[in-house]
Amino acid sequence: MSATVFSRSAEIHVRRSPPNSLSLGRERRPVRGRRRNGGITLLEIVAVGAIVAVVAALVVTRFLSAGGTANENACYVHKAEVESLAQLWFQQKGVWPQTNLGDIGADTSYFPDGLPVCPVDGTSYTLDATTGKVVGHNH
Ligand SMILES: [Zn+2]
Repeated sequence: MSATVFSRSAEIHVRRSPPNSLSLGRERRPVRGRRRNGGITLLEIVAVGAIVAVVAALVVTRFLSAGGTANENACYVHKAEVESLAQLWFQQKGVWPQTNLGDIGADTSYFPDGLPVCPVDGTSYTLDATTGKVVGHNH
């Protein structure tokens, strides 16, 4: 009877951690959710891919909007150039240039490099013959 009690207590004592291996046993346990061999999980690959996609979208959007703004500014400058030369034509000849700017565009003393076209949509500029202003191009 007493031997049975002793073996039970000894068995219980063995199941608990031995006093000399307590700290080593806890340090070797892997942290939940991570592998100890340094491999990359599918979730990590997906997370990195999502971050790269967001950064790429921001960069592409930034470049496209900057290009649109530059073209709109160039159209504004072309409009002002056409209108000022049309006013000069009006002062020198007494009439406004043709609506399609065919006469002033052919005169190399006004446009030595030819008539500019809109850098935003590539269309030609036209003139309102009563006001001397370029029609449209309100980008
Ligand atoms: Zn334009």
